[in-house]
Amino acid sequence: MATADITPCSYYMYDHSDPSSLPPKPDGVTRFVVISDTRSKFPEVPPGDVLLHTGDFTLRGLRTEVKQFRVWLDSLTHFRYKFILPGNHDLPFDDTFYPLKWHHRQKVYEDPSPTVAILSSIKARSRGVHLLRDNWIEVDGWKVYGTPWIPTSLDKVSTWAFMLPRGEQLRSKYDPVINAALPPNPSSTPAPAPASFERPVDILLTHTPPHMILDRTSKGRNVGCEALSEVVETARPRVHCFGHIHESYGAVEQNGTLFVNSSYLDRQGNPSHCPIVIDLGPRS
Ligand SMILES: [Zn+2]
Repeated sequence: MATADITPCSYYMYDHSDPSSLPPKPDGVTRFVVISDTRSKFPEVPPGDVLLHTGDFTLRGLRTEVKQFRVWLDSLTHFRYKFILPGNHDLPFDDTFYPLKWHHRQKVYEDPSPTVAILSSIKARSRGVHLLRDNWIEVDGWKVYGTPWIPTSLDKVSTWAFMLPRGEQLRSKYDPVINAALPPNPSSTPAPAPASFERPVDILLTHTPPHMILDRTSKGRNVGCEALSEVVETARPRVHCFGHIHESYGAVEQNGTLFVNSSYLDRQGNPSHCPIVIDLGPRS
């Protein structure tokens, strides 16, 4: 039986008042700087190879907000790449939600195409900006998957983007990750175990936490996504980054996965939390 290798992975809470607290990047390592839930505020971030933003970069998805966000991204010239996942606040990035329900959160309809293009155009890509909406991307050989969907609150009708009822609909959004984790032909006789452990996804980016991990609200409810917990258990990413539940900011390592909730704002919307820096590698 193949044994799972544990790729070296360290993390640091970055305190911009003391930049020397962040050690220099070791050789053979990719440095990721992770933030989430900035809602049109712009944290000080340390240099790194890749900036990861796991959603809610605006308050209501107004085009002016997305433009400001892009200006800020372009100012971060020390990153090779910036992988951006939308969240429930980033309304026009949900093609299904916005045309029907924009009026719940915005006063004036704005054509979503030019707004989305601010982060998805060829020019944005030339600046290293990559928008993730249910797709894969690779950097330095690390496989990254980003999906923005979150469970609808049990007792509320959804008036935010990227919300789906808990259960099958939400579960299907994780199919690409599950399919990558399963053997290619499960009905055939078992193939010999691979010589080395091949992880289907190295870094999973979601807006919601999985159930029971950094997902506790100030009212003491664990509101993370159950379907996502099963995906994580099956695919066992080395790193899983998310946000959304601001009061559960933090990092924890469990069963070979580093879970990171990097919500920048606290429950009251104040910028109280630091970006989280992850050094991944070298590959064994
Ligand atoms: Zn959110």
